[in-house]
Amino acid sequence: MRFEISKVLDAIEGRVCTDPSLARAVLDLAEVIRYQDLDGGRPASLLRLGMVIDTLARQLEEDSVPVYAVVHRALLSDADLTSNERMVVRRWADDGLVEVLDNPGDRMLEVADLLGLPVLSRVRFDGLRGRFPWVVEQPGRVLAPVPDAGGPKLVAHVGGGPKPMAGDRSSTGVKLLARQWRCPEPGCALFGGGGGGAFADLARVEGAPAGQPPPSLRNGVPTCPRHGARLSDAGPRPRSEVLAVRIGGLIRRRFVLTEEQPVLVGRAPEGTGAVMLGQWLNDEARRWISRSHIRLELRVGEVIVTDVSTNGSGIRPNGSLVESERVPLAPKQSRVLAGADMVELYPGVQIGRAEALPSGASFTPTSVMAEAPTMAMRLPRP
Ligand SMILES: [Zn+2]
Repeated sequence: MRFEISKVLDAIEGRVCTDPSLARAVLDLAEVIRYQDLDGGRPASLLRLGMVIDTLARQLEEDSVPVYAVVHRALLSDADLTSNERMVVRRWADDGLVEVLDNPGDRMLEVADLLGLPVLSRVRFDGLRGRFPWVVEQPGRVLAPVPDAGGPKLVAHVGGGPKPMAGDRSSTGVKLLARQWRCPEPGCALFGGGGGGAFADLARVEGAPAGQPPPSLRNGVPTCPRHGARLSDAGPRPRSEVLAVRIGGLIRRRFVLTEEQPVLVGRAPEGTGAVMLGQWLNDEARRWISRSHIRLELRVGEVIVTDVSTNGSGIRPNGSLVESERVPLAPKQSRVLAGADMVELYPGVQIGRAEALPSGASFTPTSVMAEAPTMAMRLPRP
């Protein structure tokens, strides 16, 4: 059973990130792990994060949906968690997958405000409407995960519906996310590459600068939320484009393409950031699609797709599903992927810009809890 829990926690690990382009909701981990009424189990359990993530994915009708988790530092030594769970949260903290704070304060709402994301919380924020008017003005921006007969559901504080609604990034958020930032604290997991020294300014920002979290704004100064230190401006943030994989009409995952690194997509490609489709393909698609099938590059703001497969691909101009409009892309051929164009690796296996790819299929999500022991899924009696 211990082994199975580890597998669930690994699955959840793939669904926490501080990447502004990928996160789909913000939550406070210390709050979520104590939703005891979701399963009637221990006072605190990290598995509840998985339950809430599954619920979000179901409501967004999209697979592999990540959340931005704000974590109170005390959680790293919270005795209500198992030692294994504490170890996992520490690893997430070290890897910058979650944001650990001495005093989270309003940070969850600040992140949601800067990024335009919905908040998953049972807390009433009415008192903060002055600073964050959307908490009471925009339906679906704050949703409470609550128990329901078939597992948790989301209920919007305003409007009462179950659908999380994203807003626009605030103008401050847009400005902050146009730059990359560096924390003076050595080894900072969120704004790394500091380290000081004579050549600190020349040092490359480590990690994925395009995926840096939004700085905290304190008295108008961009600040590291973890260390409270003033961040230095390390130049413009590299351009990026958010792409999505749609299989059988369902968005299976999103990924970020930057000018720094091409991305390989295929049945089982190798390399950093490669997008593996194998788990979602039927036998025929698996036979057709090469291990590495296409290479995507971002060059001067243009997405370029190159077929690197044995069998070739196709382009669906402007997302058209009319067969006569499909343009073949032979092996070794390249093409610019304009606006709503999709590249199709095999019928129904498509990649395009995330905002141009609607999810149209009836939804059968892959649960992060698939491996969960039954005990963890026990529901409270009505
Ligand atoms: Zn820092």
